[in-house]
Amino acid sequence: MQSSVNPNSDRRSLRVAVVGGGITGLSAAYTLAKSSKSDQRALQVTLFEASRRLGGIIRTEEADGFLMELGPDSFITNKPGGVRLCEELGYSTELISTDSRYRRSLVLSRGRPQPVPDGFMLMAPEKPWSLLTSPVLSLRGRLRLLAEYFVPGAAPAGDESLASFVRRRFGSEALDRLVQPLVGGIYTSDPERLSLRATMPRFPEMEAACGSVIRGVLKQKQTAGRGASEGSGSGARYGLFATPRRGLGDLVSTLERRLRTAENVRLQLGTPIQAIHGPAQGSAEWVVQTEGQQQQFDAVIVTLSTWLAAKMLQGDQFLQLRQQLNSIEYASSALVVSGHLLSDFTYPMDAFGMVVPACERRQILAVSFSSRKFPERAPDGQIVLRTFVGGAMQPELMQHSDQELLEIVNSELQQIFGMSREPIFAEVMRYDRAMPQYHVGHLDRVAAIEHSLQQHTGLQLAGSGYRGVGIPDSIDSGREAAERVLRLF
Ligand SMILES: Cc1cc2nc3c(=O)[nH]c(=O)nc-3n(C[C@H](O)[C@H](O)[C@H](O)COP(=O)(O)OP(=O)(O)OC[C@H]3O[C@@H](n4cnc5c(N)ncnc54)[C@H](O)[C@@H]3O)c2cc1C
Repeated sequence: MQSSVNPNSDRRSLRVAVVGGGITGLSAAYTLAKSSKSDQRALQVTLFEASRRLGGIIRTEEADGFLMELGPDSFITNKPGGVRLCEELGYSTELISTDSRYRRSLVLSRGRPQPVPDGFMLMAPEKPWSLLTSPVLSLRGRLRLLAEYFVPGAAPAGDESLASFVRRRFGSEALDRLVQPLVGGIYTSDPERLSLRATMPRFPEMEAACGSVIRGVLKQKQTAGRGASEGSGSGARYGLFATPRRGLGDLVSTLERRLRTAENVRLQLGTPIQAIHGPAQGSAEWVVQTEGQQQQFDAVIVTLSTWLAAKMLQGDQFLQLRQQLNSIEYASSALVVSGHLLSDFTYPMDAFGMVVPACERRQILAVSFSSRKFPERAPDGQIVLRTFVGGAMQPELMQHSDQELLEIVNSELQQIFGMSREPIFAEVMRYDRAMPQYHVGHLDRVAAIEHSLQQHTGLQLAGSGYRGVGIPDSIDSGREAAERVLRLF
């Protein structure tokens, strides 16, 4: 998020507040700490975190031989942010990739788990012929999907919803039975409202450049086959997803250790910010208010959800910015992490997980077979599942108590996978308004926020609400915000 800069070059020291100790805030603080070390810049960094632990949504627990990811479980490697940070920390040897033995995904189809057609990436079939034998779509649906190759490009000017794009190019059945659940598993969003340009720009780009998405995907595959992209992406070494051997919480601990040993970084845990005040007339100092205390800073990096950032920014000068930040909607979801004996299922659980189309009318969004996806997550003969509930399509489910959510999940696991016994353990995590919804027009909304920020020198906004919802995006967003602050010198 761009803000205009203050050529503050004669200052000897710059005091920077980082608000929020999730991965975005940690990335920002780490970038500042690292730079101050290498450039000998006089920089004082204070990171404020409301809770007593760092990591925000990222949380890993270990017990009785199980490793449980209670938030995210991995990050994509074709966006460089995550891998690059691990490399800088000397941590990349700790990264593991997915277990190739179970490398396939399932989709619930008429009540039964079926493999997602081989090579089907979100909406694009890399191996069109593998679709022909898939029972997930009717013959008519399969032929319509493959006919995309010949559908002339007719993109509307400007943004388009994911649903409109997929219906136009691949047909309704592909949308309802494959694309909606696969994309919903990432964004927990309503495809009728999800912005294509903000979430999957490469697909409309393929339509524009090649006349068809399938043509674009095949062309890309050919180029990759000739070795043009080999080794160029950070993902080349790890596969599409990577995670630390001891879980994402271990990456957070590594960052925390690094920050605790940095001379000019102060971590203030258990310190919720109550308000942020812009500089008074004739001053350039920002005021960060915590309970009973006010502290002055030259720059503030706010890494909270946009609606929380709006709450913190007080005063009439932020009226427009607050409205813009509040225009980005968020969805709530719950995650049930449970441990089971493999023998308690009639289904072999031989995949990375399963997504559930809305048209199946179930009460779960997706189940990740966590200990199949990554090794060393469960003792032999046992399995860790992560079942997602709620999201933008089923917000009413969030009204249930934890016990009711557990019962819903158990009932679904029984019906779908033939689970015969209650889990060995189960934990319910609630994520209240944690998933930003990149609705049609999102990029315009973000551009407007960036424009407004130019009036507030010293203020930076970062996090998953703006230009990418995943961990690598958040890491990049925090780093870029810190780099903009460093340019204040
Ligand atoms: C259930 C779920 C699963 C996900 N799975 C994946 C995945 O597998 N892979 C992936 O790449 N991404 C995943 N994501 C997205 C990913 O988790 C986020 O992109 C990332 O963790 C966001 O980090 P953040 O630092 O911006 O926000 P947060 O992690 O929300 O951190 C914000 C921090 O600010 C603190 N805070 C709040 N209010 C205040 C205040 N007033 N004062 C001070 N501090 C405050 C909070 O306590 C928190 O620690 C998932 C998200 C969810 C919700």
